[in-house]
Amino acid sequence: MRLFEAHGALGGVWTNSLLGYLLDFDKPGFNQELVRRLRERDAINGEGMNGLSYQPEEMKVLLEELCADAGVQVQLHTRVTAAQREGRVLRTILTESKSGRQAWRAPVFIDTTGDGDLGAQAGCEFEIGKDAACPCQPMTMYALLVVKDVSALAGLMHAVGNNGQQVGPKTFRDELARAGVKPSYGAACMFPIHGNLVLLMANHEYGINATDAAQVTEATLRARSEVHRIVRALRTLGGPWEGVQIAATPEQIGIRDGRRIKGRYFMTSEDLVTGKRQADAVARATFPVDIHALTAEENKKTPYHGAGVRTQPYDIPLRALIARDVDGLMMAGRCISGDFIAHASYRVTGNAVAMGEAAGATAALAANNKAAPHDVPWSAVQAAIAKMRS
Ligand SMILES: Cc1cc2nc3c(=O)[nH]c(=O)nc-3n(C[C@H](O)[C@H](O)[C@H](O)COP(=O)(O)OP(=O)(O)OC[C@H]3O[C@@H](n4cnc5c(N)ncnc54)[C@H](O)[C@@H]3O)c2cc1C
Repeated sequence: MRLFEAHGALGGVWTNSLLGYLLDFDKPGFNQELVRRLRERDAINGEGMNGLSYQPEEMKVLLEELCADAGVQVQLHTRVTAAQREGRVLRTILTESKSGRQAWRAPVFIDTTGDGDLGAQAGCEFEIGKDAACPCQPMTMYALLVVKDVSALAGLMHAVGNNGQQVGPKTFRDELARAGVKPSYGAACMFPIHGNLVLLMANHEYGINATDAAQVTEATLRARSEVHRIVRALRTLGGPWEGVQIAATPEQIGIRDGRRIKGRYFMTSEDLVTGKRQADAVARATFPVDIHALTAEENKKTPYHGAGVRTQPYDIPLRALIARDVDGLMMAGRCISGDFIAHASYRVTGNAVAMGEAAGATAALAANNKAAPHDVPWSAVQAAIAKMRS
């Protein structure tokens, strides 16, 4: 098995965008294994399985070790740039890197590019953003900060209070106002990561299309400048902010919204409202709809909202991970098949992990049996996943 990654570390938003927070992780299989292994390294902050902070650096090296143990051939700094089909079947992908242009043949491919690059290159129909004009969810640049004494900032951290309400952001916003800054994200917050390392989430970049490199570049430069401006302003407050430093900003701005490749099943908001059960469920999602303001104007009133959708736990079916228009192609992560609202719930990483586990098992069965992923019986996928977990 080969894995191509455009950046210099595995893990996507987890590592290259310094996400720092695991959501909807209370699931069997690799989700549990990952949390267990991170805990063994003292790289997890928080109890239970949901809403855990982790150290991005530990995540990077853990993922590399896991791939090495599993015999996955990883090639970093390599971007998938084109796809070639024979009829409906995807046969070859092209990559670009320092090694030049390379062609790779395989019996099955899995698009885990987040933005659905491979699905689009292979000619699949897709959706992006809220409608064809791509008002997409905003991008966000995080920053990892080193503070003098994290306990002195406890009252400003994102946390869940005794009544189940989230606390922290309001007090932090007051602190930002005291420093004379008004971040582009109206519900700016901080998360404790480890020791005196904290994560700052204060930036929103509106109206950016993830598939337009010039737009993403402009957003990245503007975002990094804003994050530095905010931290410089906090430093002037002294006290617990004295000497606060940016340990790192990510090389990749966090992208919430990219292409959603049409699959053999299309998930909709209706599935979330009714808590739809699926015979080929690869995961049960529990995270609510989370839509960040699409414009700076909207952010003034509602920095994020749930579109009025009351989500019940619902299933993500394997069919939403199998391309509809091209054979031999699967998807896992946020580029699977679903509408704008459904994506705003299933996209969190606990679900992406479960999708990756199921897509990997299905692709291996398809390759070994010279079959297309959609011809692999669900019972065989279930048995393969159970064996991996035993
Ligand atoms: C700002 C922000 C905050 C979020 N908050 C949370 C949170 O608190 N908790 C949570 O669980 N989830 C959160 N999410 C959602 C979650 O991070 C993403 O939905 C999830 O990471 C999607 O995983 P993915 O693997 O599909 O895509 P990504 O994590 O985007 O990974 C895609 C990978 O593919 C690589 N790639 C892209 N194109 C190519 C190509 N052409 N060739 C080769 N490689 C390529 C990228 O470099 C990247 O490594 C957040 C997302 C953002 C952006």
